[in-house]
Amino acid sequence: MPESHLSIFPRALRESARLVDQTRNDRAARIHRGDEIPTLSLSDRRAWLEDWHPDYRDDGKEALQVGRSQGMMAPKELVRLLQAWPRESVRKLYARGNLEPDYSCDVLVIGAGGAGAAAAIAAAEKGAKVMIATKLRHSDSNTVMAEGGIQAASQECDSPLQHYLDILGGGHFSNDPDLVEALTSDGPLALAWLEELGMMLDKYPTGRLKTRHGGGTSRKRLHSAGDITGLELMRVVWDRVRVEKNVQLLEFCPAVELLVDEDGRAMGAVVERLIHKDVKVIQANSVVIATGGFGRLHIQDFPTSNHYGATADGLVMAYRAGLPIRDLAHNQYHPTGIAWPEQKKGLLITEKFRGMGAQLLNRHGDAFVNPLEPRDVTSAAIIRECLEFGNGVELPAGGFGVWLDTPLIERIHGIGAVKKNFPGKYKEFLHHGIDISVTPLLAYPTLHYQNGGVNITPQGGVNMPGLYACGEVTGGVHGNNRLMGNALLEIIVFGLRAGVAAAEFSQRMGPGAALKLDHLEPFLIELAQAKIPETQVAPMLLPRYGTTLPI
Ligand SMILES: Cc1cc2nc3c(=O)[nH]c(=O)nc-3n(C[C@H](O)[C@H](O)[C@H](O)COP(=O)(O)OP(=O)(O)OC[C@H]3O[C@@H](n4cnc5c(N)ncnc54)[C@H](O)[C@@H]3O)c2cc1C
Repeated sequence: MPESHLSIFPRALRESARLVDQTRNDRAARIHRGDEIPTLSLSDRRAWLEDWHPDYRDDGKEALQVGRSQGMMAPKELVRLLQAWPRESVRKLYARGNLEPDYSCDVLVIGAGGAGAAAAIAAAEKGAKVMIATKLRHSDSNTVMAEGGIQAASQECDSPLQHYLDILGGGHFSNDPDLVEALTSDGPLALAWLEELGMMLDKYPTGRLKTRHGGGTSRKRLHSAGDITGLELMRVVWDRVRVEKNVQLLEFCPAVELLVDEDGRAMGAVVERLIHKDVKVIQANSVVIATGGFGRLHIQDFPTSNHYGATADGLVMAYRAGLPIRDLAHNQYHPTGIAWPEQKKGLLITEKFRGMGAQLLNRHGDAFVNPLEPRDVTSAAIIRECLEFGNGVELPAGGFGVWLDTPLIERIHGIGAVKKNFPGKYKEFLHHGIDISVTPLLAYPTLHYQNGGVNITPQGGVNMPGLYACGEVTGGVHGNNRLMGNALLEIIVFGLRAGVAAAEFSQRMGPGAALKLDHLEPFLIELAQAKIPETQVAPMLLPRYGTTLPI
């Protein structure tokens, strides 16, 4: 093949890219013979994880000194936010005592990703007057970026029980079994609900749903919309939200504190209006937290696949309100974040590429790990290959990458397979002049998913009356390790459940007593006793890059 396709790479990368081209025929022949790198033994997996996975670095974690989960280990970057002082806007309101509402509704949903949208739809369908307050524009979320697919036991050869067992195994039995049961038994219904809204999932010409294996699945149950599953999911749920006259949307209005009445019932939230630069008080009969995860904390300086608003705000507010949290010591680093070009660093390259045969290669063009090892092991293998053996591809702006041989997919599945199966990534890279059907990609692990979070019941309740939570902000469904495709299912199942429960609570209880911030008091005393500097403030709202001033 002529080498013009390699001219897209800077000179420093070209020689290594050439080796990938040169070794491809031989590697394809070995795959054909079934002569691939074997999967690791359990003891080797553990050793690689302990030596190279970021979760196992003792210097990356710290014990919480204040709050309900004192003593729990969590990433340092998160601990700094969980034990922080409220924002100035809140401290002013706190000094004032009772608060007058600027807005009132039955159910306040905080966050407008997939979980928030599902909760809003369910609550509105129950007749509740719903308000959604979100940090950026609606849909600015992790949900819209999801690529690979959504799991649900939709096929005859499968069952919710089989799905349940896979999730428990994947989570190393650290999950909350009741939440897993709720997720898996509602799975087929959630998928049918999305299809009824108009979601276009991949199908055979007969109309039958296409399903694939994901890492750790004993049955093929991953459903996709090409490699833009999250975008397609959000298209339909947001169309539904928009036609719902009972839902009012406040964009660029991040919540910065929960409001709780003197009986300890959640009563709404304080929001900061980013455009007007002022503060508003929202009164609600019940509240749903759906603020997503914390990928933008760049734990241990890792790049991230997450959207800009993923800064743990919901966790911060919930923790201050005394809610227990769980499973935050283990996070998901996806093995294949984009390593080059620089402006795309950290963004995701879905596991589906490896599922279709793309191999991970070192700078010599040699495979070094079986492509279907679990995510955590593959991430550890990449870091080890780069840092222990010095076999990573050195990037022009510093750091390392390994090759993901996407053209090998064409070799295995025929010409056109990349464009057909990965229309999103194919187009995205064409914008940079890179045709990924002929040119391999450079990848490195990227911070991807918050495995744990706020404890919830199967109905999405937390241990505060009137307060509910759903989606990535919660913990327990995945334990300390999530399998691919279960997060998209989780946001629909628990979004709908939380929305119904919040609407029913609102109908049952009606308005509460005076709006207060008094629940902060014990927490503030603990902060002072622990000598946490008053400059340590949260929620962060948006990450601080370069010289940009914090919001
Ligand atoms: C690139 C990528 C690919 C993925 N691919 C898959 C996949 O194929 N399959 C799968 O199952 N999972 C996948 N995931 C994970 C999955 O997409 C997410 O876990 C899930 O969509 C989270 O949904 P959510 O509604 O809980 O949070 P989000 O979708 O992140 O929504 C959170 C919302 O809350 C808002 N918010 C945050 N803070 C505040 C605040 N203080 N006040 C008000 N609003 C706030 C945010 O702006 C956002 O609108 C992927 C994730 C990423 C990043």
